Amino acid sequence: MDQFAIGVDIGGTRTKLGLVNIKTGEVLYEIVHATEKESEGPFLQQIYRSIHEFGMLLADAKASLDGIGFGIPGFVDEHGVVDTTYGFLRFMENYPLKSKIEADTGIACRLDNDARVVALGEALFGSGRNHSRVLALTLGTGLGVGFVVNGIFPDPLPFSHMSGHMSIGDKGERCYCGKTGCLEAQVSSAAIFNAKHLTRLASSGGALPDPQQVFTLARDGNPFAAEIVNGIIEALQKGIHNFINIYAPDIIVIGGGMSRSLKEHIKELNQINYLSPYRNYTCEVRISDLQEQAGILGAAALFSNRNNSNSNNEKD
Ligand SMILES: [Zn+2]
Repeated sequence: MDQFAIGVDIGGTRTKLGLVNIKTGEVLYEIVHATEKESEGPFLQQIYRSIHEFGMLLADAKASLDGIGFGIPGFVDEHGVVDTTYGFLRFMENYPLKSKIEADTGIACRLDNDARVVALGEALFGSGRNHSRVLALTLGTGLGVGFVVNGIFPDPLPFSHMSGHMSIGDKGERCYCGKTGCLEAQVSSAAIFNAKHLTRLASSGGALPDPQQVFTLARDGNPFAAEIVNGIIEALQKGIHNFINIYAPDIIVIGGGMSRSLKEHIKELNQINYLSPYRNYTCEVRISDLQEQAGILGAAALFSNRNNSNSNNEKD
């Protein structure tokens, strides 16, 4: 039987809500609005309006809703309380989102970290579908890491998505976490938007770039852009080497804002010497086909049979 849930992906500028058939991985209907970062009231109102709209669609189809799942850009605990989003959503500090939504709407709610949710989407409905151990890297303004084994999270919340901060040496800009040498700071757009790089790029004729432009400039022979891109690829190779030795994934799916630019470097990221350290072990690195849909699908899939990040106080 078909099963329906709402998946919510809270992005830097836009929040996307999708009505998902979690049996088939189909996004049936999508609502996008500007992300409300400042206060609780408008944030919840937007969510409730969408729930209402999706609910009417389902009622027309005589189907029911299992619940609403969120990918949260920050720390979530096992009870569905958002610990912090590092100031991204100002009101979400020690914020009981799950119980609030359940009390207000009577609809079951589950939350997880956004990078883990993306991994779940990729594992169930994306490039990871026919793989057992799926590692998903979300590369944008940061580096999100999520790991799924046989369709479920092997590690409990709240701290199991931090491996982007693994140290790969003492080079690079200071990470926002306060340390130097974090993988995240050397492969995300932070590696491009640091002051030193921007100054050098500007002086070499490049306009202040978005990450994709830096990759284009590099391809066109701009030496500073090429240096930045080489640095990113080299750091990412080191990171992949480490991830392989820690997680032994069958597939590494790279998504997020920077992933499309990495497509032309996929060969370098699949270099056999570090992907195959052991006999009979293979791992493939791929760029996400689902791209932005992975977040919505994964958030809704928190309601698929075996996934339940916040098991306490469950209403259903
Ligand atoms: Zn860090």
